[in-house]
Amino acid sequence: MGILDAKVPSGPLADKWTKHKNDINLVNPANKRNIDIIVVGTGLAGGSAAATLAELGYNVKTFCYQDSPRRAHSIAAQGGINAAKNYQGDGDSPYRLFYDTIKGGDYRSREANVYRLAEESVNIIDQCVAQGVPFAREYGGLLDNRSFGGVLVSRTFYAKGQTGQQLLLGAYAAMNRQINRGKIEAFNRHEMLDLVLVDGKARGIIARDLVSGEIERHSAHAVVLATGGYGNVFYLSTNAMGSNVTAAWRAHRRGAFFANPCFTQIHPTCIPVSGDHQSKLTLMSESLRNDGRIWVPKRLEDAQAIREGKLKPTQLKEEDRDYYLERRYPAFGNLVPRDVASRAAKERCDAGFGVNKTGEAVYLDFAAAIERYGREKAKTSGIDNPDQATITRLGEEVVAAKYGNLFQMYEKIVDENPYKTPMMIYPAVHYTMGGLWVDYNLQTTIEGCYSAGEANFSDHGANRLGASALMQGLADGYFVLPYTIGDYLSNDIRTGPIPTDSEAFDKAEADVRVRLERLLNANGTKSVDYFHKKLGKIMWNKCGMSRNEKELKEAIEEIAALRKEFYEEVSVPGSLDEMNPELEKAGRVADFLELGELFAKDALQRNESCGGHLREQYQTEEGEALRDDKNFRYVSAWEYKGEPKDAVLHN
Ligand SMILES: Cc1cc2nc3c(=O)[nH]c(=O)nc-3n(C[C@H](O)[C@H](O)[C@H](O)COP(=O)(O)OP(=O)(O)OC[C@H]3O[C@@H](n4cnc5c(N)ncnc54)[C@H](O)[C@@H]3O)c2cc1C
Repeated sequence: MGILDAKVPSGPLADKWTKHKNDINLVNPANKRNIDIIVVGTGLAGGSAAATLAELGYNVKTFCYQDSPRRAHSIAAQGGINAAKNYQGDGDSPYRLFYDTIKGGDYRSREANVYRLAEESVNIIDQCVAQGVPFAREYGGLLDNRSFGGVLVSRTFYAKGQTGQQLLLGAYAAMNRQINRGKIEAFNRHEMLDLVLVDGKARGIIARDLVSGEIERHSAHAVVLATGGYGNVFYLSTNAMGSNVTAAWRAHRRGAFFANPCFTQIHPTCIPVSGDHQSKLTLMSESLRNDGRIWVPKRLEDAQAIREGKLKPTQLKEEDRDYYLERRYPAFGNLVPRDVASRAAKERCDAGFGVNKTGEAVYLDFAAAIERYGREKAKTSGIDNPDQATITRLGEEVVAAKYGNLFQMYEKIVDENPYKTPMMIYPAVHYTMGGLWVDYNLQTTIEGCYSAGEANFSDHGANRLGASALMQGLADGYFVLPYTIGDYLSNDIRTGPIPTDSEAFDKAEADVRVRLERLLNANGTKSVDYFHKKLGKIMWNKCGMSRNEKELKEAIEEIAALRKEFYEEVSVPGSLDEMNPELEKAGRVADFLELGELFAKDALQRNESCGGHLREQYQTEEGEALRDDKNFRYVSAWEYKGEPKDAVLHN
């Protein structure tokens, strides 16, 4: 194993970022005008980076496959964004946010990056408020906060259940200002299909115009990949249907190491799978665990009666319910970290206490919160001795004001009123902590190729705490990259424009054409989705919430065989030079079929349990993850060597 240089600055943890900013090279404003940067991905990470880099004076080209940056998957984020503002006066501080993130990530994060993240978190809120992001406010006008899992303070800023959307509108507005100034050229409906290296440095990309089908060359002095996570390798996930690994995987194949691919977050509060017809899962925001209590019946016969429709959850007496998180984790209760809550739900369901037809669901119950809020509201409204109907009505109004859109979404999907009967939830794939390995400057192992947001291996170690992805994406984009990329670009002030008629661009474009034509010419009989679903089943069953050596070895074999079958049997209709959504999907699934194998290989070599990676052999007697800090504290960074099975491990 080779050792990677993370370029973490020297000195005390709390001083590293300030020192680094003072030490690194700058590009003067006049020279910035001569430097081009490509930003692939315009979600929160890429959108904020592009806007800031253009504001600084660089010439920016942005790329996204949606018809507008506003449609990036970031828009789906519901619950909120963390920041150590301590507006609640409840003891919060950057150090505590740092500490919670390290602990929540099961001690597998890079401390220097996380400390910087905690420091910058406070600036993000000010930046977004200045942009006009409508964060929720308390009655007195101050910004409101709520709690997310794994912490003992309230530090989560939110905009009802639409935090990601509002933050994205802020970043997009900032981008638009630069588009209007001519400093950002936006290529929407474009998909990056390869990274171009000239003399070992990232100098451009090959992209396909998804409307005309044209293959294009774009050059720059540096390339930023902010292309999101790869949870859809599981087919079913809470991610947007288009979320994929292609940009990161293509960079990996060109020399960027892929870190911790097996660290996946399985979110505890999603609407349970209802059948084979589904192509997507829906998250019920973690914010609901502020007020919802999670339980299953205490007795197996009650669980069975509920599954058979003979008993309603509301008929079960308080003493017959098992609030298992409150029982097992009294300090955090329902707000334990996600990995812990997910495993606990699986444990109860595996033991036979599941409450839906498939036996894979637990309850998230708001009855107690409705009662509590109703009584409080009656009191503050001056209603003496309110009757039960009044308490319930007032309580439901308060709950609706906090989570109304989430309750509505649940009702539309499940056709049950969650104000009257507890929600049913079950864990689902949600976020990928793994991604492109980056150093302290967010540079990958390819010079000039940077990665931000969920696409990099991020600051979350083996498990991400709720409301920390938005924080990381925006910290990377607004406050980290704009400094660190300048240090690299200061060497490029005399380089001049990068030509696209070079051998390197010829070769990269030819590679892309060969790849796409291979998919189109396979002339098989099976759809792309057929293969994607099969891959998803292998991933969920053998690389999912709990893993063991035997099944991981099987997964590696099965994925390699499925990949072979894919190239022989896939059917991709249409042609290259037209709008062709099946071809887009085929390219993404082809890359998932490689990543999936590396994922299983990574999980297999990690002989410990930590965060989102539970190996059945490594558990405490209470069923908690058993880390091996002596041997596995490292980040596993994989170097591409051909087939995924040949990838070489570095740390
Ligand atoms: C349902 C849901 C709710 C969530 N809620 C929260 C929350 O409350 N708080 C929180 O902190 N986090 C939350 N998260 C996580 C968070 O939303 C994401 O981690 C974060 O938004 C990712 O942002 P990003 O900018 O890195 O990537 P994305 O928003 O996924 O953006 C990716 C961008 O890359 C582009 N792209 C990808 N591949 C290519 C390619 N090959 N060529 C061109 N463009 C490409 C896309 O077009 C897009 O613009 C939630 C996630 C989900 C699924």
